[in-house]
Formats: sequence, structure tokens, C-alpha cells
Amino acid sequence: MSKETIMRVAVVRELGEPLVVEERTLPVPSHGQVLVRLEASGLCHTDIHAAHGDWPVKPQPPFVPGHEGVGLITAVGSGVAADRIGRRVAVPWLHTACGHCEHCVSGWETLCLAQQNTGYSVDGCFGEYVLADADYVVAVPDGIDPLEAAPLTCAGVTTYKAVKVSGARSSDLVAVFGIGGLGHLALQYAKIAGATVVAVDVTEDKLAAAKQLGADVTVNARQVEPQREIQALGGADVVITTAADAAPLKSAFESLRRGGRLVLVGLPADNQMELPVFQTVLGGISVIGSIVGTRRDLAEVFELHAAGRTKVIYETRRLDDVNSAIEEVLTGRVTARLVFDLSDQCRAE
Ligand code: NAD
Ligand code: ZN
Ligand code: ZN
Repeated sequence: MSKETIMRVAVVRELGEPLVVEERTLPVPSHGQVLVRLEASGLCHTDIHAAHGDWPVKPQPPFVPGHEGVGLITAVGSGVAADRIGRRVAVPWLHTACGHCEHCVSGWETLCLAQQNTGYSVDGCFGEYVLADADYVVAVPDGIDPLEAAPLTCAGVTTYKAVKVSGARSSDLVAVFGIGGLGHLALQYAKIAGATVVAVDVTEDKLAAAKQLGADVTVNARQVEPQREIQALGGADVVITTAADAAPLKSAFESLRRGGRLVLVGLPADNQMELPVFQTVLGGISVIGSIVGTRRDLAEVFELHAAGRTKVIYETRRLDDVNSAIEEVLTGRVTARLVFDLSDQCRAE
């Protein structure tokens, strides 16, 4: 059991304003909850959308963002087995769901209308501790570094699921638009599915990383039109979009071959996409929205990583540098993922 009584958290006090690192009393887990002492916490672009109030449904400040938390359970509420104390778990976007609606019981808990979301509707993982639902945290297998488990907890599970719902197969050409935190993992899951992969981004070092991670072709969308390059290869059976703005959506659509599937993952602030009806109908195009993944999907993501089949590219930052870290992501200076290192040696005195 932890002797600490105070925790430090990074808080959005007002949408669009810098986050403030403040001290709070350590919360006590209530029925069905666990208290997790975080070791690592990834910075997903969703946290930036949240802090800026970019989306139609806005979070209510003050709130603590963060939904790629990994740490050890230090306390449990009533109804939770005490032997879970000391276990390492991941705290994902899906904080909780109802557990009995048609979505929950059919393996689509991520569509539950009664869900709560970590770092959005409830306080999240940009801090030293977080409260989580004992039934919705996911065990992190021994041997996975918490700093690597963190990006897998959203970026990994989201793109693993996107590849799953795309139905990508070994003979398919899969294009991934946006090779950031999500995209660098998306391309690896598409390779694991056996597909030939085209990586599209606007930054050379991200494309260089994509190549190292197994992308067959890389395209710099600042230098050439991706749709021309991809159509020259026969057109994509699947396009997965992970860019955080809407600019590449048109070329993503135009990169598809007939019968292709466009899987939308990135959530641009302007919330608009032009969809030409004629080309969609005549081309037999499917447009699929894909939201994170289930607890089972995340367990599979960890299994793949433990088996050495994926690589996580990350750099660490301190929680105190949360605002400069956000700036780094927005200006494209990060190769893939930033992770707040919350291990003992990196906690402030
Ligand atoms: P990121 O900033 O790490 O990555 C975005 C990438 O897109 C960057 O590499 C950037 O260079 C690239 N990009 C920008 N403009 C481009 C263009 N014109 N063409 C190609 N690439 C371009 O962000 P992230 O953390 O990977 O998140 C990406 C998006 O996915 C965000 O909008 C986030 O909110 C969303 N997201 C969705 C889900 C979901 O469940 N659907 C889950 C997590 C994140
Ligand atoms: Zn995320
Ligand atoms: Zn439900």
C-alpha cells in the first residue's frame, strides 16, 4: 500500500488554455474501482483535441486528460479482490461501459451509449495516480516495458482494431495516411495481416521511421499527390486515415481502388469530409468509422508486443513539460509518441 497522500496531476482548467500541474489529495477507490500508481502515460492527439475543446461533445473543465496510462494497482475499492494490488494494468480510453446493452454483450463495448471516457468525461492519466474501473483496466503482461505499454493502450489498440475492421488480407494494398503515434503502429498491424503497405505523411523523419518499421512504399504528401502514387500501384484496397486534420481525406478517398474500404480513425476538429456520392456508389466504396478497441483487442495487442512482433517508437518527457510536449506534437517534431515518464526516479521531489 502506498504511503503517499498527495498526487500531482496536469489539469485543463479552461479549454484552449495551457494545462496547470497541481497537487491533489490522493483519491480513495470506491466500489468496483482501483487506484493505479502510474509509471507511464502517453500523450495521444486526442488529449490535445480534449484540452482545446475541438470536438462537438466537449469535456467539462477542470479535468485531467490522458488515456494511455500504465501503472501498478495500489488500492482497491469494495467488491474488488485484494490480490489485485501490485498488478500492472493499462488504463485505456474506455473507462467504463454498462456491461449489458446490445453493444456490450456483442463484443462492441466501445459503442456503449452509457460509456465513460478516461481523460474526457472522468479524470485521466496525466498524473501520478488515477482511479479506474476494476473491470475495464487490462493486465499488462510481464516483460512489456510500461513506457512501451502506454502507447499501445490507445494508439496500438485503436489501429489494431482499425486493421481488423478493414478486413485487410495478404493480397491487399493498405495505405496509412498519417504516420504519427497511431500511424506508426497501424502500418505494423497491416504488415502483420500480410498486406503490402504504403505510408503517407508530410514529414521525412516519420517516413524514414515507417520504412524501418516495414512500410513497402513511403509517400511525402507535401511533395507529391498520394493518390497518383497509390493509383499507379493499382489503388488501395484499404486506406486508414489517422491524420488529426481533414486535409488528407480527399486524397485518401481518391487513393482507393474499386471495392475499397476507407477506415476513418483521425478526428479532425472541423468534423467535415466531402464524400462524392457518385464515385462512392459506382466504386462500391465502404466508409467505416473505427473507435479505439475492446479490452480483448488490447490484450491481443499486448500479446503481439510480448511476442516481439511490434515496435513502439517513443520519447519520454516529464509531466511538468506537458505544455511544451503538446506543442512538439502540434508542430510535427515528434517521430511517433511522447510518453510522460512517471517512474519513481522521474517524479518531482
Ligand atoms: P499524431 O499527431 O501523432 O499523428 C498525426 C500524423 O498525421 C502526424 O504524423 C502528421 O505528420 C500526419 N499528417 C498531418 N497532415 C498530414 C497529411 N496532409 N497527410 C498525411 N499525414 C499527415 O496524432 P495521433 O495521436 O496519432 O492521433 C491522430 C488522430 O487520431 C487524432 O485526431 C486523434 O484524436 C485520433 N484518434 C482517434 C482514435 C479513434 O478511436 N478513432 C483513437 C486515438 C486517436
Ligand atoms: Zn488516444
Ligand atoms: Zn453498454
